[in-house]
Amino acid sequence: MNALPDRTLIDVHIHVAPAHLEYLAQIMEANHLVSVVNLGVLEQAGAPFEEGMRAFRKVLGDRMVYFPAPDFRDVAPGFGERMADELERKVHAGAGGLKIFKSLGLHEKDAEGRLIPVDDPRLDPLWARAGELGVPVLIHSSDVLAHFQPLDEHNEQREALTRFPDWHVYGDQFPGHDDLLEQRNRVIARHPGTTFIGAHVGMYYERLDIVDAWLDHFPNFYVDTAASIVQLGRHPLDQVRAFFSKHQDRIVFGTDLVLGGFADKDEGRPWEFKRIGYDYSQVDRLYYETNERQLRHPGYPVFGDWLVDGIGLPQEVLDKLYVENAWRLIPALQC
Ligand SMILES: [Zn+2]
Repeated sequence: MNALPDRTLIDVHIHVAPAHLEYLAQIMEANHLVSVVNLGVLEQAGAPFEEGMRAFRKVLGDRMVYFPAPDFRDVAPGFGERMADELERKVHAGAGGLKIFKSLGLHEKDAEGRLIPVDDPRLDPLWARAGELGVPVLIHSSDVLAHFQPLDEHNEQREALTRFPDWHVYGDQFPGHDDLLEQRNRVIARHPGTTFIGAHVGMYYERLDIVDAWLDHFPNFYVDTAASIVQLGRHPLDQVRAFFSKHQDRIVFGTDLVLGGFADKDEGRPWEFKRIGYDYSQVDRLYYETNERQLRHPGYPVFGDWLVDGIGLPQEVLDKLYVENAWRLIPALQC
């Protein structure tokens, strides 16, 4: 049924463990993915960096760029400086950027047991070093708005939060949704020489007017589209098209494809997200490239049981979204 032309894509937001690289190679082949950016999987699994990089290169050569995540198990005094040194070492060994998971600000604690805010000055050496090294920081701060709300029958992410209870961050022990984004924005403002890519449309895809203002305000801020169609698809079509058109140089394409890690928990269960999420032409591309109506978004129905209409972006905007912006922002892609 789908008559989309072949198109070159770069996915800047995936999490694929070394055990699943052969499968990823098949997915890339089938979807014309020339390159991917793999985020933080080695550190999350406690796997050695060099070994992981060897595995990535063996299967995918220079078609996979890897962004390591800092190790928040080491929070003794001087941790920011050590994280910066560790980033530098990994960049010299082939890493292409830095990944920050949403756990910073929400769960990571310092040696005294206090939450480390995203804008904790002790982390300034890390952000500065990324800028000096010329590598971008792909940062996920805060989370889906509904994750901060009570888990009752009104919560639109009830299905997802029931499957992943750790994602629910409602209550006094957690900072608020907007507080976390303000913390992140203070970091972006303090480090104008560092490129920041805000995951999930800057983690405010529920409010494109706010993301629009951030993009206007911070020239070193960019956003990716990982796992975002579910919420992008709820705004009026004209508003979404205007957003992608106005910021066509600032948005990079990503999906949040997960193989291994938390996806393994779902092994053997009929999780629709996994099945339809691997065919880019059946989900993401239909949304961005066509005006087809009533599409299932990639996370349907677990992350939202509603349908979305395609936004049919023009060719030149698609080229930037899919390929050109990623090449410009992530130098390691251009090997
Ligand atoms: Zn992700």
